[in-house]
Amino acid sequence: MRRVYLDYAATTPMHPQVVDAMHSFYSEHYGNPSSLHSMGQQAKDAVEKARVQVAKALSADPAEIIFTSGGTESDNAAIKGVAYSLQDKGNHIITSRIEHHAVLETCRFLKKQGFEITYLEVDKYGLVEPDDVKRAITNKTILVTIMHANNEIGTIEPIEEIGEICKNKGVYLHTDAVQSFGSLDTDVNKLGVNLLSISAHKFYGPKGVGVLYIRKGTRILPLFHGGGQENHKRPSTHNVPGIVGLGKAVQLAVAEREERVRRYTELRDRIIGIFEGMEHTWLNGHPEKRLPNNCHVIVEYIEGESMLLKLDSVGIEVATGSACSSSSLEPSHVLLSIGISREDSHGSLRLTVGRLTTEQDIDYVAEQLPQVIEELRKMSPMGKNRNT
Ligand SMILES: *Cc1c(COP(=O)(O)O)cnc(C)c1O
Repeated sequence: MRRVYLDYAATTPMHPQVVDAMHSFYSEHYGNPSSLHSMGQQAKDAVEKARVQVAKALSADPAEIIFTSGGTESDNAAIKGVAYSLQDKGNHIITSRIEHHAVLETCRFLKKQGFEITYLEVDKYGLVEPDDVKRAITNKTILVTIMHANNEIGTIEPIEEIGEICKNKGVYLHTDAVQSFGSLDTDVNKLGVNLLSISAHKFYGPKGVGVLYIRKGTRILPLFHGGGQENHKRPSTHNVPGIVGLGKAVQLAVAEREERVRRYTELRDRIIGIFEGMEHTWLNGHPEKRLPNNCHVIVEYIEGESMLLKLDSVGIEVATGSACSSSSLEPSHVLLSIGISREDSHGSLRLTVGRLTTEQDIDYVAEQLPQVIEELRKMSPMGKNRNT
């Protein structure tokens, strides 16, 4: 059976060149970058090379890059780090309703510690209104954290405009660029951010390694305390193979970006086309301001999980924001925030394409999907029995 992986927003396969680059750092060049002997210095050189690769990709200085264990840590480090560091200045943080859990749960935790959190509403496309950010800023505001692009519906937020506002008000801006890196321009100066998170496994690098960009002069306390690695900002022995892999993945993402985006867009639009031909099905997120690889739809009267499982049984791997899919019993907070009813949100489906997706894959989806949906609608206990 054909297997078609359409869940690149969840994770990606490592690029073969990334695997090659990492290989020797496991058992051959296994030094600790903090050791002063040759084995150590060789590892240190590799880490510093990766740092330069990342800095270049973000138009940052290598000294502004710290390596972390992934997107979740970068988000935590940015938000808690600024919160604890600026407690003397204020206790107010602004975010949006549709952030990743790594941001929302961090804010929830800080709220219990006495911080005030403002959750900005989004419009039906999932867009944050920059004027709302401006209005929400008070003299107690220490941080605004708004994602660059949403991981479920793919909507791209107006970070440049928000950056301008934050700069004028003297408030730090953090953005979670985990989904956008590799597809969108993530020049930290154009975006106007003080802090930015990325994660290697979302762009063909290894799992468990990420980056937090921290603009020079930004006041931030570390999450961890220990040795002096990463300028005391993130102690712990470096994950050398992971960092080398991340560096390589960054380099490839920059070199191949135009080509990747062109291909993703083409394949993604073909998937959207499949759904456009179906009744009682609609696209979520912004029609244009969306990630080039993201298609997110609601298929009325069907359970997302049933679709997911049935598609999986014919080899097609997708995601859903329906309730029972995740570990929580709630439907996706993102879908509820853009005004989708609980009932409709159960029929949500996310298909995200990537480097290895082919035209034949999409042909196969075009062949299987309508059948799967028709069969499920026939059995659907939800609402009307439609199979026109
Ligand atoms: C995947 C993801 C994260 C978490 O990154 P990990 O490296 O898996 O911890 C954070 N934010 C967004 C938007 C993501 O898509």
